[in-house]
Amino acid sequence: MKIKNVVVIGSGTMGSGIAAHLCNANIPVTLLDLKTEISENARDRIHKSRPPLLIDKSKINNIKVGNISDDFDVVKNADWIVEAVVERIDIKHKIYEKIFKARKDGAIVSSNTSSIPIKVLSEHLTDVEKKDFCITHFFNPVRYMGLLEIVKNENNDLNKINQLKEFCEIELGKGAIICNDTPGFLGNRVGVYAMQVAMTEAFKMKLSVEEADAIFGRPMGIPKTGVFGLYDLIGIDLMADVLKSFIKELPDTDEFHEVAKEIPLVKKLIETGYTGRKGKGGFYRMNKTGASKVMEAINLESGDYFPSKKIDVKSDKVDLRALINRKDKYGEYAWSVLSKIIKYASSLVPGITKEFNDIDEAMRLGFNWAKGPFEMLEEIGVKNFFDKVDDFTENSFLENLSKTKNEDFYGERQKYTNIETLGKVKKTASSIDGNDSAKIYRFNDYNIVEFTTKANALNYDSMDALKNATDKPLIIINESMQFSAGVNLTYTMEFADKNDFKSIEKFIKYFQETCKHLKYSKYPVISAPSGLTLGGGFEVMVQSNFVASHTNIVVGLVETLVGLIPAGGGCKEMLARWLDTNEAKADPNYAPLKVFDIIGYGRTASSPVEAEPMKYLRPSDKKIMNRNSLLEVSKKILLDNKDFKAPNELQFKLPGKAVRGEMDKILDKLYNDKVILDHGVLVAKELAHVLSGGDTTIDKTLSEDDLFKLELDAFMKLMETQKTKDRIKHTLKTGKPLVN
Ligand code: NAD
Repeated sequence: MKIKNVVVIGSGTMGSGIAAHLCNANIPVTLLDLKTEISENARDRIHKSRPPLLIDKSKINNIKVGNISDDFDVVKNADWIVEAVVERIDIKHKIYEKIFKARKDGAIVSSNTSSIPIKVLSEHLTDVEKKDFCITHFFNPVRYMGLLEIVKNENNDLNKINQLKEFCEIELGKGAIICNDTPGFLGNRVGVYAMQVAMTEAFKMKLSVEEADAIFGRPMGIPKTGVFGLYDLIGIDLMADVLKSFIKELPDTDEFHEVAKEIPLVKKLIETGYTGRKGKGGFYRMNKTGASKVMEAINLESGDYFPSKKIDVKSDKVDLRALINRKDKYGEYAWSVLSKIIKYASSLVPGITKEFNDIDEAMRLGFNWAKGPFEMLEEIGVKNFFDKVDDFTENSFLENLSKTKNEDFYGERQKYTNIETLGKVKKTASSIDGNDSAKIYRFNDYNIVEFTTKANALNYDSMDALKNATDKPLIIINESMQFSAGVNLTYTMEFADKNDFKSIEKFIKYFQETCKHLKYSKYPVISAPSGLTLGGGFEVMVQSNFVASHTNIVVGLVETLVGLIPAGGGCKEMLARWLDTNEAKADPNYAPLKVFDIIGYGRTASSPVEAEPMKYLRPSDKKIMNRNSLLEVSKKILLDNKDFKAPNELQFKLPGKAVRGEMDKILDKLYNDKVILDHGVLVAKELAHVLSGGDTTIDKTLSEDDLFKLELDAFMKLMETQKTKDRIKHTLKTGKPLVN
């Protein structure tokens, strides 16, 4: 069975997300709702969504829309019908009756339910119908969340389920995990429990909202929305409904009940319209008085709002052992929350799945945790864990582990997929090398560098690791959310604040030297980016010999937004790409002006389809839907390039002053229109100087080193200005650019 045509019924949050993602995979899809108007509105929402649900917005009309009365005939041609209507069993049952009457023989029918057991969903189906019926539980937003839980029933044609799994893995790029028919399946069962523990412990231990989020966040390898921020994002009222459904479904003996009790403050928030970001606010709110906006957080005891405080927990790395051993309330909170999550998750094995490993994967793919509960246990250490924990009756997993005390209990990773993932391969490295900012995994015939800093921001050590790993073919890849958000600005500002510009210059030079080395070393270098690939991160990628990019990449040169210019080869490489066009051959100003526009505005692309027209990616770069496959694709590139020879060095012919006149005209207009202010002009003039080739004329030839030198000089000049420092500080504080 091949899936060539899909119908999605219900065009709300999930139905529209699923349809958009099928469109991303170039699968013809029709979206039906009660009225065509509703599905048309859904299509508009998809078009306007931020971050975009579509990889290529121009394909929006490939999603056909209609209503379930007039257009139901489309079901006849579908190979897969996905039901994503409201979570009401009566409505779902009616829809199934209609679908099974109309579908072609053998077409798969699945539900996106988050809480209704498959035995209830399928209770009116015949055995033949049940053969083709399952749950496909996608996560919101569908394009970006990796997890897809597939729940079978006892009558399923297993062949077909496996084909569906493979389709969802390869074509849709999902981490498809088959799980048992238990409430909340894997992800939500453990994820919602974890949120509830983090919340109830914060109340009990009298932590503030900001303190809890500062701990149950980055220090634990959990997204920085923490628990209260995540509650606001999901919707406090929606979370209350989710809890009700768990309370109804789970037996009284389940530990879940302990953490799902109604909290008076939460009830009051919902009743007064404080349902989170979609309502008047929630645990956090933006207080707007006049022109000023102040982020406030609620006091969990009094229910009053106060300006939100930034909590510095003084740890920039995920180090669970150090965290739980802290001798302060943060350490106590971390241990209390983590130990409960580990105990709960392990108590569910083998009930919800016989593979504990799948629970970890569900937490990574569905909740963006860096590690799941069992990997956390592994990191804390089995002995350390049992030194602190002795109550685990009726938890056969912990009972067994307490006897064996096997520190290597984990075994194989990512068992749910046959793909050779980075997570699986890492374990088999012949040796591991590196430093605080990056790890080098060494294998017989190639190396892997994995950046390991916050957002994989780059510093001297990151470059050192890259350089040291070029003694073999090299793949630069990682398992965290971002490839790299660029050079570490905090690190740069520490030098700037001490007026130690020499150290900054030394770092930039080393950055340039390393990137040049990557490009021209004897062995091929492959970058396999996913997520943010910005600034310095882009420069590493663009100076690799090959690229295997995930389709969820956000790529661009954004240095001008913080008052700098790309100085690790970004200007140079973008010029080279634009010079290599027919237009540039006819007009010497063409390439510098194009790159001036792209870098000047700090333009970014949020998919390969957007990146190619700007030449951030090339048509020859590989673009892959499944993040898990990045390593396999990279290894295949190595195999296909056994006779690799480093490229020849680039040469540049640039017009110098002749194009700067045109750039000045553009800047004058922007300045007069108040689009840019004084410092904007200064930054752009430095950029113009670099992109024009400096003091050159079109008949002269410049080398890559000449361009590196121009980049470095411009960068250092800007770095020393107060207004660039103001921009950097503002961005570090607020995450937003400063216009000055
Ligand atoms: P939603 O309320 O956003 O959308 C539901 C849509 O179904 C609406 O457009 C409604 O008009 C339509 N609908 C209702 N009755 C219909 C009928 N008889 N025929 C056709 N369309 C009908 O809901 P949602 O959040 O998209 O959830 C849909 C399903 O996905 C639910 O089962 C839910 O439990 C599940 N789910 C939701 C999320 C989430 O984060 N929202 C995540 C995973 C799973």
